[in-house]
Amino acid sequence: MKFGLQVGGLLLTIAALGLASPLDQPVPKKISYNGYKVYRVSVAEDADDDVVGNAPAVELQRRRSDSGALTVDLAVAPGDISAFEASGLYLDSTVLSYDLGAEFAAESRVSVQTSTVSAKGALPGLEWFDAYHPYADHVQYWADLHAALPNNSELIVAGNSFEGRPIQGIHLWGASGKDSKPAIFFNGNVHAREWITSIVVEYILYQIVTGYKSDPLVQKVLNNYDFYVLPVVNPDGFVYSQTTNRLWRKNRQVRSNATAVGTDINRNWEVGWGGDGSSPNPSSETFSGYAPLDTPETAALAAYTRKLRDLHGIKLYVDWHSYAQVILLSYGYTCTEFPANVDEQINLAAGIAAAIAKPYNTTFDYGPGCLVLYQSSGNGRDYVTDVGKAQFGWGIELRDTRYGFVLPPEQILPSGIEIWEGLKYAWSQF
Ligand SMILES: [Zn+2]
Repeated sequence: MKFGLQVGGLLLTIAALGLASPLDQPVPKKISYNGYKVYRVSVAEDADDDVVGNAPAVELQRRRSDSGALTVDLAVAPGDISAFEASGLYLDSTVLSYDLGAEFAAESRVSVQTSTVSAKGALPGLEWFDAYHPYADHVQYWADLHAALPNNSELIVAGNSFEGRPIQGIHLWGASGKDSKPAIFFNGNVHAREWITSIVVEYILYQIVTGYKSDPLVQKVLNNYDFYVLPVVNPDGFVYSQTTNRLWRKNRQVRSNATAVGTDINRNWEVGWGGDGSSPNPSSETFSGYAPLDTPETAALAAYTRKLRDLHGIKLYVDWHSYAQVILLSYGYTCTEFPANVDEQINLAAGIAAAIAKPYNTTFDYGPGCLVLYQSSGNGRDYVTDVGKAQFGWGIELRDTRYGFVLPPEQILPSGIEIWEGLKYAWSQF
């Protein structure tokens, strides 16, 4: 059911409830989320981040329904459910989950606690994609990928996170030697809770590393492009999402003049910084920081972008996210301006979306981010498009629209398989 919802009514409702999001405060022990319900709520087109962000709920994801209406998925604590269901928000919602904590338990049954990492130094087979893994095992996996293709790869570090973890990954190249071709640049797990992104990026790496020996399409793309892949660019947030708060999104930066922890590193880039679709409020999930590039993670990624631009240019940038199932082209910060090659971009995205749908019929939308999803200012793809001069500066939101961030481990491999199909289409065009 779809009822129009007025922003004014929304504001009143939230003010009356007056409850804070559980993400506002640092939490000492793991949040269970037992008994949390997840609602999909339709909202007005101009509902800004702080309006929805102040609901007695954790905002999970905005997306567009098949009819084009803007929806927000919200997780509501057991103690807030009756107030939420009495509010105006509830009138226009459907329930996605009756117990988010139970879904987390199912997710981790074969995941974080029981890593399947194999003998150190040997590349695990496809069983790696049967479960989610602790951060340290991901780091080992990248080393294992390098060991499996030692003459065509190296481990790379773009900089350090706020808590001092290296922002690391792998660089792959083909027959002409390293740093000799235009760049394909991938960033995963920008948002901490989007666990599917890093492991799908690893599936792409697995296909390249194992395919380079025999697959002509992989040989072609790796001989023509240098791949620079950083599967977890927000390591502090990722670790925190595994140890403490499964729904953590931002980095873990502490600000001297704010109690709230964390900046959204996908609102901290320079292009369009501070505009609509970002927040100056440190407790917001889309907090932009106090100045462009004032998070160490975004500053490192921006410097790396400029380095690749100056080397041989950037062919394709993908900032991997979940879970709206959409290929986001630039721009996010403006709905009225478009890159000069937008038609070329839309054609490529259409071919990729059609290829993604082949294995499992998964539907991916595509188009300029501001039009096809929502406005977001200070995001990575706009920076890599304008400053990095990328031919294709994109974000891709992976599946799925039912389980959201808590995608069951059984869907890791299908998600990787469909995305690899989409990328094979891109490789055929490059
Ligand atoms: Zn995201």
